[in-house]
Amino acid sequence: MGKSVIIIGSGFASLSASCYLAKQGFDVSIYEKNKTVGGRARQFVRDGFTFDMGPSWYWMPDIFESFFNDFGKSPSDFYQLDKLDPAYNIFFSDDVMTIGDSMDKICREFERIEKGSAEPLRKFIKKAQDNYEIAIHKIVLRPGLSPMELVTKDTIVRLDQFFKSISKEVRKRFKNPKLIATLEFPVLFLGAKPNKTPSFYSFMNFADFGLGTWHPKGGMYQVIKAMELLSKELGVKIYTDQTVTKIEVTRSKATGIKVNGNTIKADIVLSGADYHHSETLLDQQYRQYSEAYWSKKTFAPSSLLFYVGFDKKLQNVSHHNLFFDTSFEQHAKEIYDSPKWPEAPLFYANFPSITDASMAPKGCETGFFLIPIAPGLEDTLDLRNKYFEIILNRFQKLTGQKVENSMLFKEDFCVNDFIDQYNSYKGNAYGMANTLLQTAFLRPKLHSKKVNNLFFTGQLTVPGPGVPPALISGKLVSELIVEHQKK
Ligand SMILES: Cc1cc2nc3c(=O)[nH]c(=O)nc-3n(C[C@H](O)[C@H](O)[C@H](O)COP(=O)(O)OP(=O)(O)OC[C@H]3O[C@@H](n4cnc5c(N)ncnc54)[C@H](O)[C@@H]3O)c2cc1C
Repeated sequence: MGKSVIIIGSGFASLSASCYLAKQGFDVSIYEKNKTVGGRARQFVRDGFTFDMGPSWYWMPDIFESFFNDFGKSPSDFYQLDKLDPAYNIFFSDDVMTIGDSMDKICREFERIEKGSAEPLRKFIKKAQDNYEIAIHKIVLRPGLSPMELVTKDTIVRLDQFFKSISKEVRKRFKNPKLIATLEFPVLFLGAKPNKTPSFYSFMNFADFGLGTWHPKGGMYQVIKAMELLSKELGVKIYTDQTVTKIEVTRSKATGIKVNGNTIKADIVLSGADYHHSETLLDQQYRQYSEAYWSKKTFAPSSLLFYVGFDKKLQNVSHHNLFFDTSFEQHAKEIYDSPKWPEAPLFYANFPSITDASMAPKGCETGFFLIPIAPGLEDTLDLRNKYFEIILNRFQKLTGQKVENSMLFKEDFCVNDFIDQYNSYKGNAYGMANTLLQTAFLRPKLHSKKVNNLFFTGQLTVPGPGVPPALISGKLVSELIVEHQKK
């Protein structure tokens, strides 16, 4: 058996790293604080309703394919993947836009809103596709060790795209506010405002319109289950309900962890828990980043979430629905510039049982509602209830139906739960944003600068927030660990 590696946490990044390390012959053990694996992507089932607690948009299917291919497998060995049509609906105050499953359908919808917009859209998506090839197949696969990783002949000719915002790029080509909001939406997955996100990140628009929105039958948790199964096949041992309270270090070398009062020894420690929390498991002299460092960083939003079981099928909605009937700019200001509970929040609603009957009892609907909010806000039951009422009223009005008396149950989840359940910094939902100054080598490092055999992975390090980046993060850190062993 090879050297022993302890991995803290069992989110996408940790599970990914565990598979790569086990394949390389390491003796890998995962310690997860919660009762089930999956981290922010956990699932809960109540009275026949199945809820993905976090991620629900399956984008960039090529990255999932490439992860499983690395182990001689394919997603279809584990779960059935369906392309959604429509991919999603966007509700504005006076109209509903439908984003179909092909560029032709999307172009027709753009033309309906703004005559002559199809042609600039095709050009914009073509450029986005070029960026996707460079970003996803080259840059993102680098470990963020040096600025030189970003300097290639492809990036040099696109230098201007790193200093212009996506917001500017979109507004140059489109005038209609609905089209602008539609094209700014994908970069929200990167965790920052569109006017703070470099236009090079338009590759997210290609992920959206070019590659489409997919659904694993049974929900996103099927991917976690597939990775858990794969890791166990590769020999990884997974221990749940195990809270790590300390990373033990002697003379700048990690020797193991303290978990549920026991000390477990290991040759290498890798933390996939939130980076900020992981460093608090170390004695002060071994932490790389101060509290001041973290407080200056732009964090992706937290979220107020509701999981609702409806006793009937809902009308006029799709699997994914965005409610953009209020001001995008105002809500973004309330998340990033002057953090406070939003006056009139945008929100997202997901009804997976519309396309996947396995997600709800017959004749019923599984509903997930998400309001993005600033991390670190005061979180009380009164506030949660107040906001549920606000969005439910808007939902009923915009979709033309009464649902308030059709709810069998409602569960909520917010800042305090993110902190309590995931040790999340200020209750962030998607980690640290990908702004220009928080990209690649400017993000917290995969390898500790102070503890020789301590590594980190997940959405606060490279490449950044989201499920596909988490898969890549696990791969990158495992490659660094392998390299480190050769020294
Ligand atoms: C509401 C929501 C919606 C999202 N929507 C999407 C989406 O649609 N598409 C998309 O691609 N991405 C989405 N994301 C982002 C995506 O889910 C995350 O980027 C990704 O799951 C992060 O994985 P991770 O492995 O970095 O971290 P996590 O999933 O947070 O894993 C970290 C793990 O460490 C564990 N841990 C923490 N402290 C300890 C400790 N002391 N001891 C032991 N274990 C510990 C935690 O319990 C957790 O299991 C969403 C996230 C949220 C929250």
